[in-house]
Amino acid sequence: MTIIPRLILQTILSLPLVAQNPGVQVLPGSADIEDSTLRLVENLQSEGRQRLARFFPDTALQNVRIYVHLDLDSVPDEIQRHFHRGTAGLALLERKQIYLLLEEARLSPPGDLRSVVDHELVHLLLHAHSAAAGPYVPRWFHEGLAQELSGATYFGVSEEEIILPARMRKLLRFRDLRSTFPSDEYSLRLAYAQSFSYVSYLTRQHGIGMLLRAARGSDAENWFRAGFLAEAGTPLILEEEAWLDYLENESGAFWRRLQGDCFFYLMIPGSILLFWAAKRAVDRDRRTKMRLEREELLVQDMETESQPSSKPEI
Ligand SMILES: [Zn+2]
Repeated sequence: MTIIPRLILQTILSLPLVAQNPGVQVLPGSADIEDSTLRLVENLQSEGRQRLARFFPDTALQNVRIYVHLDLDSVPDEIQRHFHRGTAGLALLERKQIYLLLEEARLSPPGDLRSVVDHELVHLLLHAHSAAAGPYVPRWFHEGLAQELSGATYFGVSEEEIILPARMRKLLRFRDLRSTFPSDEYSLRLAYAQSFSYVSYLTRQHGIGMLLRAARGSDAENWFRAGFLAEAGTPLILEEEAWLDYLENESGAFWRRLQGDCFFYLMIPGSILLFWAAKRAVDRDRRTKMRLEREELLVQDMETESQPSSKPEI
């Protein structure tokens, strides 16, 4: 992970400070966070909320706190356990809190601070929008929508990562991703990737507005499926089958994966050939040099033999 250099922070800080919204407070998580860093995050959250307002026109964030930390060590112990390794942001829905780790932020998407702030804001906006249904909006929908609306996937995951598990019927079951995501790295990447792909597909089919109304219709028994059935008139399971069909046959993910793998495997024999070609060239140069040295010595010997000896014969 790349630490955001202070110079870049200062460059961005030359932007005019956007008026602070009283509904969201940006606070230092520890004493080593400078005021200039807080101003940067303040600008990012304000601009992010403006960008996201068109998706949540009737939802206002109130009493939200964003805590800015340098690293995970400075985060309170009870919050640390919620962080996945290598992530720069965390939203606690009921507490209305966002935690940011500057050390885990990258300089460019997908893990840059702007994308991370937008991602976490989507979680809080979706929870506020869903009102009483908030606790029953599944985690996969949260993460899929946060990635879709922030314009960046978590960990840089892509459909190419899930195309083979999809063809082998080894994807995670969405009902197992309602409350929590898995902790091991492979399954975690799979969970983020398939959530992103599925929600992106649903968004293209039905639009964000319809999906947000469906989220608000979630209930304790059937979660998002209840709201989706009420809005679309068709069971969500049919959409999942259609999404799988799209992923396998229309998304192009299989061919992109194949191209990536072919390039990788072609690079291996290419590298070996390059190594042997370089080695042969070095050996040839060495042999040429040795031959020239031998020839030079031979010429010197012949010149020495042809000169009359100055020593008397004994
Ligand atoms: Zn998230």
